[in-house]
Amino acid sequence: MIRTKCLIIGSGPAGYTAAIYASRANLQPILYEGMQPGGQLTTTTEVENFPGYPDGVEPFRMMDDMKRQALRFGADIRAGEIVKVDFSSELKHAFTDDGEEIVADTVIIATGAAAKYLGIPSEREYKGKGVSACATCDGFFYRKKRVAVVGGGDTACEEALYLAGLCEKVYMIVRKPFLRASDIMQQRVFQDPKIEVLFEHNTLRLTGDGRVEGADLVYRKGESDEKEVHIDISGFFLAIGHHPNSTLFKDFVETDEQGYIVTRPGTPITNISGVFAAGDVADPHYRQAITAAASGCKAAIEAQNYLK
Ligand code: NDP
Repeated sequence: MIRTKCLIIGSGPAGYTAAIYASRANLQPILYEGMQPGGQLTTTTEVENFPGYPDGVEPFRMMDDMKRQALRFGADIRAGEIVKVDFSSELKHAFTDDGEEIVADTVIIATGAAAKYLGIPSEREYKGKGVSACATCDGFFYRKKRVAVVGGGDTACEEALYLAGLCEKVYMIVRKPFLRASDIMQQRVFQDPKIEVLFEHNTLRLTGDGRVEGADLVYRKGESDEKEVHIDISGFFLAIGHHPNSTLFKDFVETDEQGYIVTRPGTPITNISGVFAAGDVADPHYRQAITAAASGCKAAIEAQNYLK
């Protein structure tokens, strides 16, 4: 059994920032890195919008910088996953994938979220070579190029509008004959001359020699007027939603209908005293490295206040 004042679960910007602050506050935190050390950010190619890196930074390097900063102040960073928790008593219990039990006074959940993918084979083949799930992160690399965004919700509209500011042309690939997004977002999309909405289209496959150069779509699949359509694109952006990685905590911590952990507005405080949530697992809106880092900082400060 391992005893700690502060257990941090997750190793994205929220988790490492929480570890930096918690170790500087002498909470001697233990951080479990989880399945994807460095978090979602490591699936992108370059980070250009995190303050402090004027020339941009390779995501693994940025996450390694954060990790080393936390280690410098004594954070105990461990490979491995938390597979079970019990928050039913004042002391919180967590169990690792190799059978270790951790007993903690406070827990910071920073397990992030994962973008949903369509599940077609070519999506995996071109991941990082034209396929992205974050226009704000990767859009800049497609300046003056043609791209497509999949999805018809608010995220897809936001991504399409953002990309329209950079790219020559943006297709929206929408499986239904209408958008699900809010009226105001729909209006903006329809008014943007660079965006073309392809209703009732589904993606069959991506094509290209080593990088995305096009996509084969099907219009009105299964109907009498079904037809295949090809579009020339260099970027293919998924915007069909995210899954917050909160399943492990659902028996204890309050989540919303999409699974995001509910926190007191503007704070990382959850319904369980001593348990805090930071980063994308509690944030359906901003989902940026900098906002995740900020909430990790707040979580460590709240953990410190709780222990006082
Ligand atoms: P949504 O679940 O709202 O939308 C997902 C979209 O992706 C839908 O159009 C859906 O189609 C489509 N989709 C899902 N699976 C597939 C698939 N396999 N193939 C093709 N299309 C697919 O997710 P969002 O991320 O857009 O939004 C999540 C929440 O966050 C919403 O409540 C939204 O309002 C909110 N949000 C608010 C913003 C704001 O206020 N500025 C910005 C961004 C998000 P279908 O309609 O057919 O199911």
